[in-house]
Amino acid sequence: MPIETVNPATGETLRTFEALGTAEIETKLARAEAAFRQYRTTTFGERAELLRRAAGLLDEEREDIARTMTTEMGKTLVAARAEAAKCAKAMRWYAEHAPALLADEHPAEVDVKDSGGDRAYVRYRPLGVVLAVMPWNFPLWQVVRFAAPALMAGNTGLLKHASNVPQTALYLGDLFRRAGFPEGCFQTLLVGSGAVEAILRDPRVAAATLTGSEPAGRSVAAIAGDVVKRTVLELGGSDPYVVMPSADIERAAKTAVTARVQNNGQSCIAAKRFIVHAEVYDEFAARFTGVMAALRVGDPMDESTDVGPLATEQGRADLEELVTDAERLGATTLCGGQRPTSQTAGWFYEPTVLAGITERMRIHQEEAFGPVATLYKVADLDEAVRLANDTPFGLSSNVWTQDGAEQERFVRDLEAGGVFFNGMTASHPAMPFGGVKRSGYGRELSGHGIREFCNITTVWHGAVS
Ligand code: NAP
Repeated sequence: MPIETVNPATGETLRTFEALGTAEIETKLARAEAAFRQYRTTTFGERAELLRRAAGLLDEEREDIARTMTTEMGKTLVAARAEAAKCAKAMRWYAEHAPALLADEHPAEVDVKDSGGDRAYVRYRPLGVVLAVMPWNFPLWQVVRFAAPALMAGNTGLLKHASNVPQTALYLGDLFRRAGFPEGCFQTLLVGSGAVEAILRDPRVAAATLTGSEPAGRSVAAIAGDVVKRTVLELGGSDPYVVMPSADIERAAKTAVTARVQNNGQSCIAAKRFIVHAEVYDEFAARFTGVMAALRVGDPMDESTDVGPLATEQGRADLEELVTDAERLGATTLCGGQRPTSQTAGWFYEPTVLAGITERMRIHQEEAFGPVATLYKVADLDEAVRLANDTPFGLSSNVWTQDGAEQERFVRDLEAGGVFFNGMTASHPAMPFGGVKRSGYGRELSGHGIREFCNITTVWHGAVS
């Protein structure tokens, strides 16, 4: 993929960048390793001060970076501003909480004296240079939710961002540098995906984290496996949104629309499959379809726009294929199902609701990365659970029910990294984020996320005779 900014709202190529050559990559790798040797000895207080400064700069520059994101990948300006604000908040959260999350652990249960020891504890030490391979859909947030904990833990970072968001990628490297992080602590590498293997195999790189598609995750995990390096994978999702009879249907339908079309429908944790109990199906379907059909599709810079374009032409083509396949196999299109006639350029697609989905349709098993929802009618709770789990993915899940016993059943049985009741999935710095099945492994955010890139070290003192 060429490294370039192409405005998805117009299809116009705005800037093209040269990929780094082998010598430039070598320089950056050497810098990252040299920086790690020194940076790992800094205190939490020193790291926190730098991270707070980065958060301050990001707040000051919110409008500019939001416009850059919107121009590069088409999310609405309103959503881009919110993303930048969320990143600054997460940086401050880790600046404040990392010392407690990584404090030495003195396991109370371990009586080391029984084994000839005097005392023992666990120390969380940094791993080294971490390679982050990141996607375009939340071009600031995906990077910051890796970088903030990794830097607080004392690691250094190399960012290989998606090729269609180079200006946001460069901004991130520059942001950490201007905040005062020593040279080499966090660097952007403008490289294509073909360069990832050699960087990951380099002995100076300790670990990798990848957020993106399943094929990309599989490739990075295979290489990392070959050289025995730690990985975290945050991959695709096809999250269920279950609505049971006790739900507040009006709120459930309204929230369902946001859950599906947030980020123009291109979110891993967007609700994609709407599984509705037969008793409330007709009411939910009517309300949900009504709001979806009324959404304003258009210029993402316009503050009244609800849904902007898809980020790439290929992304829209992939989505159209899934809809066409479902329609050919008998799905009913309740709204949308085509490109909006109001837009003559760019990669827009109408918010779409498909009903009558069967297992033979590709959209039943594959991730729809755009504003397309599938509706299912189920007879009871057992069928809802079965259908919710009938997917290769297991990122998050959403359930609308007021019934405590039903809630317990969903928490017990849903195969996902999160279960959100009477609302929609969202990430929060204090809570772990990640999936099971083919949505990946490992966790980001919270204490779990910051420890992913730590050397969990046992420190043992022998008995003094
Ligand atoms: P993608 O094509 O997999 O790209 C993600 C990153 O991986 C990009 O930097 C890309 O570089 C790189 N890449 C692609 N193929 C690679 C390979 N074979 N080896 C090494 N690197 C490779 O995914 P995307 O289209 O940008 O993002 C959409 C996907 O990400 C969706 O499936 C979505 O659900 C998932 N996602 C998951 C989460 C989560 O937290 N679980 C969050 C957001 C998105 P190039 O751009 O240079 O190709």
